[in-house]
Amino acid sequence: MPSDDYYKTVFKSPSTKVVRNRNKNSACGYTGCKSEESAGRPRFPVCASCKHTRYCSREHQVAAWKSHKAQCKRYQERDEAEGIRAALGLLTPHQIVDNLLEDFVHLHESTFDELANFIYHVNLPKLLAEQVDFSRVTVNVYLNYLPDCEGNPAKAFEIETIALKEVGSESLSEKVKKYRDDLKRSRQNDPTFIQGVLCSYHVAGYESPLQPTGLKTTNWVIIYKPHAQFKLEEEWNQQMLKMVQGGIVLRKVRDEEGPRKYRWVPGFLFKGDSKWTWKAIPPDLADRFSMNLPPVEYWGRQKITTFLYAPGATSAWVAPAGFLWESND
Ligand SMILES: [Zn+2]
Ligand SMILES: [Zn+2]
Repeated sequence: MPSDDYYKTVFKSPSTKVVRNRNKNSACGYTGCKSEESAGRPRFPVCASCKHTRYCSREHQVAAWKSHKAQCKRYQERDEAEGIRAALGLLTPHQIVDNLLEDFVHLHESTFDELANFIYHVNLPKLLAEQVDFSRVTVNVYLNYLPDCEGNPAKAFEIETIALKEVGSESLSEKVKKYRDDLKRSRQNDPTFIQGVLCSYHVAGYESPLQPTGLKTTNWVIIYKPHAQFKLEEEWNQQMLKMVQGGIVLRKVRDEEGPRKYRWVPGFLFKGDSKWTWKAIPPDLADRFSMNLPPVEYWGRQKITTFLYAPGATSAWVAPAGFLWESND
């Protein structure tokens, strides 16, 4: 079992831009160092000035200081300004919702990864039939703000719809295209990688003539080939949606025993004076909620060699919802 400390992820006030809890582990902030935190081990020490960037060692912090200095100052200024305005109640409702949106997306990052993978694969036959240009496919998540969320960033929005969209090539910025291509290049040796897809989250009702796109944030989702041993289940998709709506935050943790075995740990955010803390649901309680979570390796994130191929196809064929995979081996 990972140590108890691992579960204590602290968030600042709900009205500041906050959540630096990643479902992912932080990497060392020194360019050129490949070290990453791992679940169950203590986190890397954080820069005492900005409380943002982490380093695997004192040496790397010192080595990175020249390049970190300016960024460090920007983090501090931003957090201070936001903190003061939040403490004085000076944030506009728009800013509060904007901050909650950023936190909500970070918190549910793993869950949204699953949802995006699901919708991509479920729609794949249709997309193929329509000869869609896959490099221009994006995932759009439409959200409604829930004012009675009591500031809990994990349950501040309900999901209205999640939709795949093919955007015109002119609406993808050069930056987006470059990031997408870099992602592809960096994963070229990963047989499970399909593509990076830009995921954008929109909040309904926050559009204005000045800001026609409204409240919006984006992140990147990696689409993987489905694991041959599992089936594409609508039930799991529904469960993932319920998790988000219930404010349940999934974190992927690595078991101490066994070679790189990951599993989901569901948890809730608990409110303190000015902070939210993530805590795992005790396993017996999780059972009572009958949280039958899909295995982490549902999509091909680990090295797998078995895929199902349609006759004549060069890429893995994907089953429609409800289809039962039969393993090839
Ligand atoms: Zn390092
Ligand atoms: Zn710093």
